[in-house]
Amino acid sequence: MDLNTVEAVLRPRMRSELPPSASGDSFLAGGTWLFSEPQPALRRLVDLSALRWESLRRTETALHVAATCTFAELEAFEAPVDWIAAELITSCCHALLGSFKIRGVATVGGNLCLGLAAGPMVALATALDGTCVIWSTDGGDRLLDAVEFVAGPGQTALRPGELLREILLPAAAFRRRTAFRQGSLTTYGRSAALLIGSRDGVGFTLTITAATPHPVRIVFDGFPESAELEARIDVEVPAWYDDIHGAPDWRRNLTHLLAQEIRLELSAP
Ligand SMILES: Cc1cc2nc3c(=O)[nH]c(=O)nc-3n(C[C@H](O)[C@H](O)[C@H](O)COP(=O)(O)OP(=O)(O)OC[C@H]3O[C@@H](n4cnc5c(N)ncnc54)[C@H](O)[C@@H]3O)c2cc1C
Repeated sequence: MDLNTVEAVLRPRMRSELPPSASGDSFLAGGTWLFSEPQPALRRLVDLSALRWESLRRTETALHVAATCTFAELEAFEAPVDWIAAELITSCCHALLGSFKIRGVATVGGNLCLGLAAGPMVALATALDGTCVIWSTDGGDRLLDAVEFVAGPGQTALRPGELLREILLPAAAFRRRTAFRQGSLTTYGRSAALLIGSRDGVGFTLTITAATPHPVRIVFDGFPESAELEARIDVEVPAWYDDIHGAPDWRRNLTHLLAQEIRLELSAP
């Protein structure tokens, strides 16, 4: 779709060329959402592609995922054999309700910054204990636990003019056993509930997204019995999301069902 209120497109090549933020500005990543609906308030696009960030960088301690890394690039990542949780990458990339054409340009950062309840990169970053690296407008960086990045539908922790630079996924998180479940109202519908469980030694962590307005991470010291899992979900989920992709009571039931499946899958020692 043409964005016919846009008067300028800036292409900064380095951080110092980023313009001071002004009303009507928007960062442009893959553009799969920006160009998918009218944006009457937009006056200026700040295209992130000319910054040429390296999409993926693996170190001994973490995988650095640039905000501009596309779903396709992330999915093509070849993980070391002991990073068994890397299988979540494929599951989460395919949880985006879009074809390979969308996955070829949609970015990880754009998915987080859009802040949709059904954002699969929100789920991935939360479940893998991700840290968001944010470029502040004063020239500094700030770090934020991924579970705190999305505050509600379309709301993020970004302050005006701030830019998501990258997401750090610790190597230790990739070595945990994980289980993934996703449910939708229709066969190819948007996620109504997307859950990821992970088991590390005796501990168990459950990440709930899509069924809730923002991600919820529930940490258990030991491996929970069925009743404890059920009780903790009801206590720690503040609200069930309500939109055309599913009613709140149905999302709650679906979440409980998928959570129990995950518990069973990870219950083997
Ligand atoms: C057919 C189709 C299906 C889709 N299915 C889903 C789905 O199932 N789940 C889902 O969550 N989304 C879905 N989307 C929406 C969207 O495509 C994805 O969320 C995608 O990941 C957005 O990434 P992008 O790079 O295209 O972002 P853009 O469209 O370029 O930007 C999205 C928003 O994020 C901001 N932004 C982007 N990058 C940054 C950054 N680094 N720092 C600060 N702000 C930034 C932009 O300013 C803009 O407000 C779908 C879209 C289509 C067209």
